[in-house]
Amino acid sequence: MTTRMPVLFVGHGSPMNAIENSVWSRAIRALGAEMTAPRAILAVSAHWYVPGTHLTGNERPETIHDFSGFPAALYEMQYPAPGSPELARRVVEAIGTSRASVRDDWGIDHGTWSVLVHLRPAADLPVVQLSIDNRAAAAAHLEIGRAVAPLRDEGVLILGSGNITHNLRHAMAAWRDGESTTPQWAEGFDADVAAAVSAHDTDFLVRALDTEQGRMSHPTPDHYLPILYAVGAANRDDPVRFPIAGFELASLSMRAIVFG
Ligand code: ZN
Repeated sequence: MTTRMPVLFVGHGSPMNAIENSVWSRAIRALGAEMTAPRAILAVSAHWYVPGTHLTGNERPETIHDFSGFPAALYEMQYPAPGSPELARRVVEAIGTSRASVRDDWGIDHGTWSVLVHLRPAADLPVVQLSIDNRAAAAAHLEIGRAVAPLRDEGVLILGSGNITHNLRHAMAAWRDGESTTPQWAEGFDADVAAAVSAHDTDFLVRALDTEQGRMSHPTPDHYLPILYAVGAANRDDPVRFPIAGFELASLSMRAIVFG
């Protein structure tokens, strides 16, 4: 018997968090240290945003360095966790064979490994990634989250990795100008999403990007959508907590969510 695993959403922010000893990396380490080890991890990363719903089926998934302009140390990072073709097939079965498929042309991208190097530094648990279909409506992402929820009872940790606010143009300008004041739209959207998550208000969360603050917070939806998978996999009666909160580069919310 395995106990039901919690569901996590973690804000990954800058790839530099993977190699820096920052307030964020220390907080993710602390979160990992307090958690019961799962049997495997199913990760939904903002950085596998492609047409279709796919699972990584590799026995030995490659560490993908999907960014540019960072120091060499970041390109040398490896997260040598095993894959699990068996879990990939199980997830396809849960979502439906007509809606999802296994592929071997992806691996563990930095949305996943920049979090896991702190959450599970030993890299000893199988990791499978689930892609985000860039053609699907918001409600469809929530539905896939619901479809994979039973895996929690099979010892699988479902991990969404994105950011509750992610306007890179604003964040880069703040970095260049040494600006650290969080703009009102970011404070407001982060607070609204946190309140909706606490209330399991899926109606709001599915429509959140259609608000003015939502559009400012997400010029593109990729970093928001992993939240919908996590919320979908959560039960209405799961306790909700936010072990990490705050902003990086003025406007990037680093809020993490634990369901269950
Ligand atoms: Zn990212």
